[in-house]
Amino acid sequence: MEEPRTQNPPKLSRAQRLANGQLAVAARQERSLIKKKVSAGELSFFDVLSEKRPALIRMRVAELLEAVPGVGKRRTFLIMSKAGISPTRRIGGLGPHQLKALKKELILNKNPRKSGKLIVMSGPGGVGKSTISKELNLRSDFWVSVSATTREPREGEIEGEDYFYVSDTQFDKFIRDGEFLEWAEFAGNRYGTLRSPVNEKLESGINVLLEIEIAGSRQIKKLGMDAIFVFIKPPSWEELEARLSSRGTDSPERRAARLALAREEMAAATEFDHILVNTEVKEVALALVSLATSRSED
Ligand code: 5GP
Repeated sequence: MEEPRTQNPPKLSRAQRLANGQLAVAARQERSLIKKKVSAGELSFFDVLSEKRPALIRMRVAELLEAVPGVGKRRTFLIMSKAGISPTRRIGGLGPHQLKALKKELILNKNPRKSGKLIVMSGPGGVGKSTISKELNLRSDFWVSVSATTREPREGEIEGEDYFYVSDTQFDKFIRDGEFLEWAEFAGNRYGTLRSPVNEKLESGINVLLEIEIAGSRQIKKLGMDAIFVFIKPPSWEELEARLSSRGTDSPERRAARLALAREEMAAATEFDHILVNTEVKEVALALVSLATSRSED
């Protein structure tokens, strides 16, 4: 036999429906006003929660939390889940323990300094990565990581600016001590990114650029770091050959080895999120800035 159906709600008179409609409009206006005041910092989120105004009883906690300055959608989700509160919980249904947990998480998560973006830039030797890096380093919101290397300094290179030039023994020690975020061998020398300065800069909200070869960038990808992977291509292979040949410092053997490596590196371009052609250094630098800033919005 069919279950008896629940009773229909009582029929309301026109005047009652009108009055209910007006109440609903007033409640909506009150909610929107409160959200505005919370987002302007004029009202405290917790004061609003504890007042339990009738208009807010059925409002979702998440909706109000999102309005708190510096919180936003993504952090709201994080705070609610860390506090063990369902994202659909309504203000009227918040118990005292949940309120306490929410307070704790909000204090921990409110206005954390926005971390910087990590950009991993690779590309064949001679493509102009270091010129691009120098251009970006002029900006106060970017920092180019200075790697440690076992190769000898080239003419004009400065210790601590271009690289930290270290012995094989020192490099081994860095590896043993876990100082490297990644490291790789390239054309007979070793190169490594020092972990702590990178983390420090990112935590202080500065965008960090790593100018590294392919094997290193694969390692960063494997670490699962939130990074933007960019490959720099030359306008043409001939141009790259010409640039590499004009480097007076390399022996013919070294130059041939670098060309062979460059060929291999070019083949890895498709592994990257973005490919930029280095026709104009300033343009590439600006493209990198825009990649970092467009991904930094919540
Ligand atoms: P160069 O000897 O021409 O300065 O650099 C040779 C290659 O090593 C370049 O492709 C450069 O991007 C890369 N490189 C520089 N520093 C690092 C590093 O810390 N890690 C890795 N994996 N590659 C690096």
